[in-house]
Amino acid sequence: YTSNHRNFPMVPKVVFGRGSFNQVGEIISCERKGIAPFIYLIDSVFEKNITFIEDRIPLSSTDEIIYVSTAEEPKTSQVDEIVAKIKKDYQYTPSGIIGIGGGSILDLSKAVSIMLTNPGSASEYQGWDLVKNKAVFHVGVPTISGTGAEVSRTTVLTGPERKLGINSDFTPFDQVILDPELIKDVPKDQWFYTGMDCYIHCVESLHGTYLNAFSQSYGEKALDLCKEIFVSNSLSKEEADAKLMMASWHGGMSIAYSQVGVAHAMSYGLAYVLGTKHGIGNCIVFDKLGKYYPEGVAVFKKMKEIHGISLPVGVCADVTEDQLNIMTSVALSLEPLWENALGTDWKSKVNADTLKEIYRSL
Ligand code: NAD
Ligand code: ZN
Repeated sequence: YTSNHRNFPMVPKVVFGRGSFNQVGEIISCERKGIAPFIYLIDSVFEKNITFIEDRIPLSSTDEIIYVSTAEEPKTSQVDEIVAKIKKDYQYTPSGIIGIGGGSILDLSKAVSIMLTNPGSASEYQGWDLVKNKAVFHVGVPTISGTGAEVSRTTVLTGPERKLGINSDFTPFDQVILDPELIKDVPKDQWFYTGMDCYIHCVESLHGTYLNAFSQSYGEKALDLCKEIFVSNSLSKEEADAKLMMASWHGGMSIAYSQVGVAHAMSYGLAYVLGTKHGIGNCIVFDKLGKYYPEGVAVFKKMKEIHGISLPVGVCADVTEDQLNIMTSVALSLEPLWENALGTDWKSKVNADTLKEIYRSL
């Protein structure tokens, strides 16, 4: 027999429901180890509105809240700084890390919990299965939905050399709290961009050569939910929020056992050179990928229209030839994404010139 089937961990515990965030203290209490603190990493967008999050967190003893800006996506250096601060401030390894925010904060929290028990810099662990020691207990509380970072086995970080995930069995959260009330105030454009990350995960997974029954079952469910939320427009706001939270979850599960594709590969190139954020970057690229995903792109354009979203244009207008070369080589270096999208002979179907033409059209 062959042993080439991957054995993946899943998030072992999840709470779902409106208002479930009120139970956070009770949910984590059994993980408290003596005087070792719980550290909350919270998106600084909630610093202005403490009644929404902070006032509902039962801090005890040396527990601490650290607000983190998400103006930029998480970096390995940022992870290293937070870990150094926690190690300096506390004699004991924390009882747990609780991340409250979108994909940026969820990824940051996963990485911090790993780096509290593993030596060196986070950049040394970007890649596959490089983490040796079990992470500190970590909890994810999404406040915007679509990335699937709450279920995934990776934490995407921009490092000194590349933007790449720490993919490991120790990366997934030990506990997730899905409270649809927390996503109710996400600004419309951001709601759309991050929601479309989920939609694009589904399209890329379902149209990939890596597709299998496991991925398909989650991908089809997530795609149906996305269509209900973004096309049919017949849901109440509360229903739509709850369904988007579950779409994100299923979309993340779908790519766990397959891969993403062309839009993600090209969006990574944009992010690396121009700092374009994941959600909007995926949208900007996907909009031009009718050749690769005809049906998916047609529905995407319809959703844009329904919600009055206008994407930025001329994104690469001022990009130099050097920058274009870097973008292209970052995108093409993500081989599994291309193999999933176009098959094992993908190199005969796409090359640097093909990508440059698409980049120039953005
Ligand atoms: P984000 O976390 O960067 O947040 C986007 C914006 O929404 C921020 O300005 C934030 O302050 C704001 N926001 C969040 N919740 C809010 C709320 N409830 N009310 C008002 N504003 C709110 O965006 P994202 O799209 O969720 O995450 C993107 C990141 O996720 C990228 O870094 C990307 O690499 C990563 N990602 C990770 C995975 C994974 O599997 N680990 C998958 C896809 C993307
Ligand atoms: Zn994505």
